[in-house]
Amino acid sequence: MVKKSKGQELAENILTNRKSLPEESPKSFRDADEFCEGYKEFLSYKTEREVVDYVLPILEEHGYREYARGSKLKAGSKFYKVNRNKTILMCTKGKRPVSEGVRVTVAHIDSPRLDFKPHPLFEDGAMAYFKTHYYGGIKKYQWTTIPLSIRGVVYTKKGETVKVRIGEEDDEPAFLITDLLPHLAQNQMRKGASEVIEGEQMNLLIGSLPYEDDKVKERVKLAIMKILNDKYGITEDDFETAELCAVPAFKPRDLGLDRSMIAAYGQDDSSCAYAEFMAELDTKNPEYTTVTIFADKEETGSDGVTGMRSFFFRDFIEDLAQDEGAEVRDVMRNSVCLSCDVSAGFDPAFPDVMERNNCCFMNMGPCLAKYDGSRGKYSTNDASAEMMDYVISIFRDAGVRWQIGELGKIDLGGGGTIASEISIHSIDTVDIGVPVLSMHAPIEVTAKMDVYMLYKAIRAVYESKKAKAF
Ligand code: MN
Ligand code: MN
Repeated sequence: MVKKSKGQELAENILTNRKSLPEESPKSFRDADEFCEGYKEFLSYKTEREVVDYVLPILEEHGYREYARGSKLKAGSKFYKVNRNKTILMCTKGKRPVSEGVRVTVAHIDSPRLDFKPHPLFEDGAMAYFKTHYYGGIKKYQWTTIPLSIRGVVYTKKGETVKVRIGEEDDEPAFLITDLLPHLAQNQMRKGASEVIEGEQMNLLIGSLPYEDDKVKERVKLAIMKILNDKYGITEDDFETAELCAVPAFKPRDLGLDRSMIAAYGQDDSSCAYAEFMAELDTKNPEYTTVTIFADKEETGSDGVTGMRSFFFRDFIEDLAQDEGAEVRDVMRNSVCLSCDVSAGFDPAFPDVMERNNCCFMNMGPCLAKYDGSRGKYSTNDASAEMMDYVISIFRDAGVRWQIGELGKIDLGGGGTIASEISIHSIDTVDIGVPVLSMHAPIEVTAKMDVYMLYKAIRAVYESKKAKAF
């Protein structure tokens, strides 16, 4: 072995030395690859309702039971609580009383999409359409001329509940939003990108055959409504009591010749949700009670009864506290939370938006964000040095790899996450998440090793015996 020079040795000891995960341990790609087979399946559940429906039987299989107030919970027992079919809290009871704090992770299971308007169906140009209202921050032009599927639920006048999922399978029809031909797009191409396609042009093309009776008007609309009526038993009025949306119809798949990445819709924030979910399932007999949260409405500001700004979470913690004769405020104060949400990965096509010393790279592990917000750290959850030390020391001891970065250059924008909705309860919270390319696009990109390492990071926190001393 060649002896290291004095400078080399010194640099090793006192300078940060970042290596990518595949550089550091190429063999562990196999584990990440295997882990991500389950992740790809998870990704095919594309709305918050579908994710909750998907995880419930898995939880039951793993011995989780629905939480009831007043339960006498033994250490190691597993339980869950669903909020309005859209969010879920999953827990493993710790050995210590909840008054000593719980270990929370929260990811959101809503993703940007195209919700239907309450009166969606119309006919124009001898074609039928559904009118949509986009949900979350999207570049609208990205959502035209791609296959979309329709998902959701309808409550009919007859008192039936109809779950809709069409356009995903190869033998099902797809739907799409049209765009203008380049030949006539002179004016369109001069517009700013946010106006290239406008909200009111986001109409889903769903049919073109007229109903065979020239005595009625809007015959294509009637024919389409008849198909819906025959298949689902719904009438046009029933759209008023429906929650329907269109999502990209692409299947999650491996990306790259080396299959090291995943291309799929909804990885913000399903990559974090899946990592949380697997860590929760795999955690047995933790020291502190785990509270694994799948949240809704993050993409629109966390408002509403299923958003993290609702009191649902607090009430649940209060129930756990009361079961043990503890005060909710003590539980909160002694708790820590990983707010698990994706971060922007460095993209060589857009290097200008990043500050290279403080941004996240693909395959470098989950990205801790000490703070988020925008400009002068407005609306930020700025994790304290004590909290950073708590989390990083757990990672270090458990062999977890992480990186730290900001979302992008200071003056370019920014964004908040759920972290603020947790820290408002007096829970020390820090953001962590998988680096993503093309965030909020119909297909987003992650690296398998990052998703897997986030799972390990969460598991390390769940399984740590380290008391919170700050
Ligand atoms: Mn997110
Ligand atoms: Mn997002």
